[in-house]
Amino acid sequence: MVGSYSDILKKVMQGEAVVITAEEVAELVLSGESSRLSEVDVVTTATRAVMSGTYAVLSFPVAKQASFLRAKSVWINGIAAQVGPCPNENLGVLDLIVLGTAHSQDRQNYGGGHLFRDLVERKKVHVEVETDDGRRLQADVGLDEMPYARLFASRHAFKNYSAFVNAGAEPVGTIFHSRGFAPHCREATFSGCGRINPLKNDPLLESIGIGTRILMNGAEGYVLGTGTRSSKERPNLSGFADMHQMVPELMGGFVTSAGPECICSWAVAIPVISKTILEEIARPDRGIALPVNDVNSRTVIGQADYGDVWTDVDLEVEFEPENCSGCTACLVEEACPMRAVKSEGGKICRDGALCFHCGLCTTVCLSAVFSCRLGAVQLKRDGAAVRSIPVVLRQSDRLRAEKLAAELKRRILDGTFKMTEPVGRI
Ligand code: SF4
Ligand code: SF4
Repeated sequence: MVGSYSDILKKVMQGEAVVITAEEVAELVLSGESSRLSEVDVVTTATRAVMSGTYAVLSFPVAKQASFLRAKSVWINGIAAQVGPCPNENLGVLDLIVLGTAHSQDRQNYGGGHLFRDLVERKKVHVEVETDDGRRLQADVGLDEMPYARLFASRHAFKNYSAFVNAGAEPVGTIFHSRGFAPHCREATFSGCGRINPLKNDPLLESIGIGTRILMNGAEGYVLGTGTRSSKERPNLSGFADMHQMVPELMGGFVTSAGPECICSWAVAIPVISKTILEEIARPDRGIALPVNDVNSRTVIGQADYGDVWTDVDLEVEFEPENCSGCTACLVEEACPMRAVKSEGGKICRDGALCFHCGLCTTVCLSAVFSCRLGAVQLKRDGAAVRSIPVVLRQSDRLRAEKLAAELKRRILDGTFKMTEPVGRI
């Protein structure tokens, strides 16, 4: 029920709060039990998607004290890091900033998102340092040898996003597609988790503010404020969390036709503290606008809605390796943005923990090894249907976002996640 933040927190602490996931809200609405939403105190929401505005701040020893005065340049697994802001003179310690969208100079299709996941998977990463006196130092370092490793969001968790098409006459390489984007609006890609997206459920940022505790990639973190390019109509968030507590399956790299990008996930608990929030939690995918952009001009060429892409579709991509006809070169192995598919000795394998359920493989392999209903963007202009454009790639993983919202609910109910009232509005 609509209550004050502090009253809801008290109910949560006393084990009396009604806490449900955004998906359970949708089930209540679909079964005609919307009136029961007035009993809900907290809705857990989540999103997992390609999120470019990600960077890590890392600090760790790389050599003995006094072995170099300053680091001039640093590469981790071939990715150039920004040295500083602290120079750490003579301590043998590096302070670095690594961008999630940075690309490795010596590993093909490897970027900051891949590096962050490798670290969280406790893989050693190779560090090369060029010192200011021209020497080269090398070390292999793991996350547990990094006392400070935090992931920051400069722009995450948009209140849903957009669909993209290529209205031009030539294929286009872009971060919005993992292959050349076919011309003449023949295919669509999109981002946004629809009805379970955090800011969709609190669009006026009434409950989310500075200091709100969240889960970022499964680790507890905090909202810092709004992010870059945030606006009243299309807000997004900035925040941070400690990498040591993160879960690899919720993050990672995503290869696009314009190079590797970075995947992140957020889960946010929304207390029902206003009528707006109560109304918004009930809004179905069909009621959430999905603007359709031409990838060339980045201008909106029509409208669709999230019902087109998240209703009557499959969240999971089915894998039936027995249907594989053993092509000389597996097209999916090359196209998969997660590099989750491997063809070895005539056998096709998929790494289920890596798969993003983006669906691209279903459009590339013609032997029904992969199957998934991806839906189609129903492009409208001035309310009139223009054309139906099949989705070929999802840059949001609603399957894992739903699991994450359920995990946040579990943690709130068993007391291992403490909701926090913001210290300031944003
Ligand atoms: S493209 Fe399909 S049929 Fe061909 S090797 Fe790959 S999975 Fe098998
Ligand atoms: S759905 Fe297919 S293309 Fe997408 S990540 Fe999974 S295996 Fe790769």
